[in-house]
Amino acid sequence: MTASHVPLIERYRDRLPFAPGDPLVTLQEGSTPLLRAPVLSEMVGAEVRLKLEGANPTGSFKDRVMTCAVSAAVREGAKAVICASTGNTAASSAAYAARAGITCAVIVPDGKIAAGKMAQTLMHGARVIALAGNFDRALVLVRELTETHPIALVNSVNEFRIEGQKTAAFELLEDMEGDIDALYIPVGNAGNVTSYWRGFTEMGASPRLYGFQAEGAAPLVLGHPVEHPETVASAIRIGNPARWEDAMTAMTQSRGSIRSLSDTEILAAYRLIASGEGMFCEPASAASVAGLLKYGTDGAERVVCVLTGRGLKDPETALENNDGVTIHCEADMGALEEAVLG
Ligand SMILES: *Cc1c(COP(=O)(O)O)cnc(C)c1O
Repeated sequence: MTASHVPLIERYRDRLPFAPGDPLVTLQEGSTPLLRAPVLSEMVGAEVRLKLEGANPTGSFKDRVMTCAVSAAVREGAKAVICASTGNTAASSAAYAARAGITCAVIVPDGKIAAGKMAQTLMHGARVIALAGNFDRALVLVRELTETHPIALVNSVNEFRIEGQKTAAFELLEDMEGDIDALYIPVGNAGNVTSYWRGFTEMGASPRLYGFQAEGAAPLVLGHPVEHPETVASAIRIGNPARWEDAMTAMTQSRGSIRSLSDTEILAAYRLIASGEGMFCEPASAASVAGLLKYGTDGAERVVCVLTGRGLKDPETALENNDGVTIHCEADMGALEEAVLG
């Protein structure tokens, strides 16, 4: 079998807290492509690659988390998992719970979930609780709930999540033969940037980590929680990151930084990645590329931007922000010719 046909936990079992006989809940996650980005490379004068985490089974890197968190929950005898989510954690936990044959409940901010993510979560049969509050509030409540009920919490506070996500750093080091100068990554709850740093340090590597938040949801940049986080990039619409300290440590130790971007800058990168490189990611993912374009490479020669989730997750934002055109046309040849060639 090639690496891409091996479940993530099997591929990296020697570096993960799972023993050979442990139950494995897998949908063949991980081993995602690393795509060259010629247009971006030309623009910034460096070798730019895109780590396509949207190629995971449910379309985001959260599947690395869920194979570990749900496998561990099943190992401990859990009959149900729960999470607070801005959407992708919900979709992923619902899928892995379905695969495991256990129950899943997700708590999401009411009316704030992208359509694709909501569709997935419901299809997998989860119980969706639409909370009259934002993600940060949902996380506080769900943490409290799981203290008094026997339900496994699968949010970024779950230690297996960081373990699962660090495998993306292993893949990058293998694919680039250790030669990576800088990583550009969107930051919400900051579990992902924390995980990459853990993965890199475990392998003795130390590329610079450049994290990016949206201006309206930039607690790590501002140095204080944001009570009402707002951004078009719903996956990073988080005002009080669960992995605050760990993320700052990752940024400091790697001699990187955490900086912010306007929604306009994020959306410009979102369109450019799709129309220039042929890769459709979700808005939050585009923050990595927007950060690269805004702040540059600082001398790095080989850089990777993490595209955390697939574009199809959020069709509404795509339909409102694109470089395409729709031409309505009568069903006859003259009109068609004019529409096509016009
Ligand atoms: C979860 C998520 C993020 C943010 O990752 P954190 O670990 O919360 O920092 C970014 N992009 C997408 C698509 C996500 O699903």
